[in-house]
Amino acid sequence: MKGSTGTLVIWIILIIFLVILFFLYNQLEDEDYLHLGTNAPMPTELHPIVEERKNILVEQVSDININIVITEEIRTFEEQDQLYEQGRTTDGNIVTNARGGESYHNYGLAIDYALENEAAKIIWDVQYDGNNNGKSDWFEVADIAKELGFEWGGDFRNFRDYPHLQMTFDLSLRQLQSGIRPSSQ
Ligand SMILES: [Zn+2]
Repeated sequence: MKGSTGTLVIWIILIIFLVILFFLYNQLEDEDYLHLGTNAPMPTELHPIVEERKNILVEQVSDININIVITEEIRTFEEQDQLYEQGRTTDGNIVTNARGGESYHNYGLAIDYALENEAAKIIWDVQYDGNNNGKSDWFEVADIAKELGFEWGGDFRNFRDYPHLQMTFDLSLRQLQSGIRPSSQ
């Protein structure tokens, strides 16, 4: 009897120790992010890393004679809600399945691009090969963006969003909605 009580005590101490370790580990993990709790202020501009990579992308594609235009950056919840209604209760095609707060655009973590043709006209033509290298300019841009750390909407399974590029910093929309933000480093 005495022996088994001793074993039980050792087990309890071990479990408490593991629980404490687990909490400490989680706290360490949280330091990767600016954990602002709920109702963290909404960013008003692109995350600095997204901004930086966006500019690199524009430069790198121009090196291979592709001109792109960034047609969309940060979007407020209100603008997102309006966009959601497009093709549903307002004119136009459905362009998004995300309502306010459900898009990485709302947190300054996404951009959209389009091509500019020789006539300096903005086009959404994924077949266009303006630099005449036998490859679609649109996909060339997507490949370079992915090398720069973006996720490309053309790879999304449910809703292919060809103009869309985002960086999640491993944060889910739920985490962002709860007020967790990527650190700005
Ligand atoms: Zn987008």
